[in-house]
Amino acid sequence: MKMEKKNIDWGNLGFAYMPTTTRFVANYKDGAWDEGSLTTDATVNISECAGVLQYSQSCFEGLKAYTTEDGRIVCFRPDLNAARMADTCRRLEMPVFPEDKWVEAVKKVVAANSDYVPPYGSGATLYVRPFMFASGPVIGVSPAREYQFRIFCTPVGPYFKGGVRPLTIRVSDYDRAAPHGTGHIKAGLNYAMSLHAIVEAHEQGYDENMYLDAATRTNVEETGGANFIFVTKDRKVVTPKSGSILPSITRRSLMYVAKEYLGLEAEEREVPFEEVKEFAECGLCGTAAVISPVGKIVDHGKEICLPSGMTDMGPVTKKLYDTLTGIQMGSIKAPEGWICEIG
Ligand SMILES: *Cc1c(COP(=O)(O)O)cnc(C)c1O
Repeated sequence: MKMEKKNIDWGNLGFAYMPTTTRFVANYKDGAWDEGSLTTDATVNISECAGVLQYSQSCFEGLKAYTTEDGRIVCFRPDLNAARMADTCRRLEMPVFPEDKWVEAVKKVVAANSDYVPPYGSGATLYVRPFMFASGPVIGVSPAREYQFRIFCTPVGPYFKGGVRPLTIRVSDYDRAAPHGTGHIKAGLNYAMSLHAIVEAHEQGYDENMYLDAATRTNVEETGGANFIFVTKDRKVVTPKSGSILPSITRRSLMYVAKEYLGLEAEEREVPFEEVKEFAECGLCGTAAVISPVGKIVDHGKEICLPSGMTDMGPVTKKLYDTLTGIQMGSIKAPEGWICEIG
C-alpha cells in the first residue's frame, strides 16, 4: 500500500468536503443487503419519493483515519461506530448493516484512498463518513423497503489551527432531545432541528449551545454535536448521564483514560446546571477535536467563567487530551482493540 500522497497543503486544510477517488456503496432490497462494492461515483440517484426525502429516514457516523508515528494507517475504535450505527438503525426501523462487514467496508475505503490519508505530524486526518438512508419510495408514513449504505471520506485539517481557543457557549432555550426520544442515536433529524439554534447562537457571538434536559431543564445534557466532560476542583472527571445524550466514543475513551492511565476518579452521573459554577474545567468531546476547552458559559446574561480561563486548556483537560491523542498516534500504548490497522 505504498502510494504517493496527494499534493495537498495538509496543515491548511479546513473542515470541508473534498471528494476523494473512491467510496463504498451497498444496497438493501427484498429484505437483504447486497455485497456492496467500491465505486468512483460520488453522486446518488434516487426516487423523488425516497423515504429519506419525505420522512428523513437517515443516519450517519463519523470517524477518523490517520497516520501513526511509525507510519501505519489506522482508525480509532471503528467497532464502536459500527455498533452505534446498528443501534441507530434499530431505533429508526432501518436495516442493520452487519457490524463486521461495516468495519471491513471502512477499512476498504480507507485503503483505497490511502493517498489522501494525511502524513503523521500534519495534524490533518482523513474523516470517514458512513451513512445510510431510505432510498425506496414511501408516501404513507412507514419505513421504506429499500436502503442505501455508503461510506465516503474526505481529508480535513487540524482542528486547533493557530492554537487552542477556549469556547464561549450559551445555555440554549431550545431543546435538543426529549426523554425517550432520539437524542441517543446518530440520526440526521437531530441535526436538522439543531440548525436554527446554532445559527442563532453564532449570531449572538457564541460558539455552541449547552442543552439542558428537556423534561426539567435542570441537568446538563450536551451540545449539538459533542458531549461534556467537567473537572472538579479536586480533579475528579465528571460527565453527564442521561438517556438522551449521544454516547460519544471520544468521551467514553476519555473516561477510561482518566481512570486507567491518569489514576483519576471519573464518574458518569446527573450534573445539575447549578453545579457547573463549581467546576474547574470544562471540555467538549467528539471525534473532530478530541476535546475543545470551554472557557465561558453564559446563562441568560449570567456568566460562568471557568477557572481554566480563555487562553488555554485546563491542566487535567490537557493531560486527557495529550494521553488520548498519544494513544491514537501510537506514542502511548493503546488498550487492546482500540487501534484498527488498515490493510
Ligand atoms: C457524534 C456526536 C458526538 C460525538 O461522538 P464521537 O463518537 O465522540 O465522535 C456527540 N454528540 C452528538 C450529538 C453527536 O452526534
